[in-house]
Amino acid sequence: MVNGGVASSGATEVGARARRTTRQVRVGHVRIGGDAPIMVQSMTNTDTADAQATALQVAQLARAGSEVVRITVNSPEAAAQVPSIRSRLDAMGCNVPLVGDFHFNGHRLLTQYPECAQVLDAYRINPGNVGRGSKRDEQFGTMIEAAIRYGKPVRIGVNWGSLDQELLARLMDENAKLERPAEASAVMREALVVSAIDSAREAEAIGLPGDRIVLSAKVSAVQDLITVYRELSRRCDYPLHLGLTEAGMGSKGIVASTAAMAVLLQEGIGDTIRVSLTPEPNGDRTREVVVAQEILQTMGLRSFTPMVVACPGCGRTSSTFFQELADSIQGYLRAQMPVWRDQYAGVETMTVAVMGCVVNGPGESKHANIGISLPGSGETPVAPVFVDGRKTVTLKGDTIAADFKAIVDDYVRSRYSARAEAPAGA
Ligand code: SF4
Repeated sequence: MVNGGVASSGATEVGARARRTTRQVRVGHVRIGGDAPIMVQSMTNTDTADAQATALQVAQLARAGSEVVRITVNSPEAAAQVPSIRSRLDAMGCNVPLVGDFHFNGHRLLTQYPECAQVLDAYRINPGNVGRGSKRDEQFGTMIEAAIRYGKPVRIGVNWGSLDQELLARLMDENAKLERPAEASAVMREALVVSAIDSAREAEAIGLPGDRIVLSAKVSAVQDLITVYRELSRRCDYPLHLGLTEAGMGSKGIVASTAAMAVLLQEGIGDTIRVSLTPEPNGDRTREVVVAQEILQTMGLRSFTPMVVACPGCGRTSSTFFQELADSIQGYLRAQMPVWRDQYAGVETMTVAVMGCVVNGPGESKHANIGISLPGSGETPVAPVFVDGRKTVTLKGDTIAADFKAIVDDYVRSRYSARAEAPAGA
């Protein structure tokens, strides 16, 4: 079973921090907010009207660890294919909850495609993109009524790039009349917060229960995100979906997302996260899932996959073998997790040290569950291995990598007990 569920994903919540949200929302079998672990989610970039391609990418994201996956529902063709995407996933054994992302025509699609409305596990609604003028309230109301009718939660997702212009104009006018007007950027941030909270209150007034609402207010600048979410957290108790929008490509996107989210997560703000990376051409969409997991795991908030501790290497490193072994062990551990997480409880907390020489190698190895120190330049061509702090064997020759992987496999089998079946609906 390709499983996106929190309880059955094998992930462990390891960090203690003050969580500010007490409300909890269910998206399918996944809980968000309150005492639930901080949830990792992602979004497809396929054409939703292509059911096969979308189902395959959703399954890939779920297999990588995405606990909820969002798909855009932007046209009648896309809405018509959503039930097929769900059945293809079910046929693959993938029960990851699906969120439909609606803009502009969501009120029509949710009305005209009831099967789509029914099989989705949640709707994302952007209050800046639901209609203009008198149509805005009516169309927003139609979408909320669909959520009520089908018993679905809603994420009210405000975005800097599509902020409700009427609300912004009103706040700008009010600000201009003040004796000491705030800067325009501060009014923009206030408009984001007000748009999210007022829309949530409007949804509750229509009849959507408060425990079916998640909020987000995404911007593309780190300091703005921190300011906006601190304010959201201060003013409401809805679970918060955290993410820097348009984070960018490569290391810039990763660094910006991490810088913004780490500050907020450390303060207890954020109940679910997405890292919005722009993939390289033909790049792997699952990268955003791995980065999100690594943010939570390196902060000590959750564990998802055994982690490799490796030294940076230096003039004592004798060859590229050390980098290759560290890379191949990390890849191997991640590749094993879809199987291990269902079989071995706690394996995701394992640490493996791969060190380039004996200067820091044995010491670091003793702190890890398993560690290996490769021979540095001028050192005897042997690689001492430590298991649970004790030296157990010294590897040598051409089979060091394979022998070390076998030791890791043996350790996992003997150290981590068989996992009990997760309770249904956990
Ligand atoms: S452990 Fe050895 S190879 Fe690695 S950085 Fe330190 S001195 Fe260099």
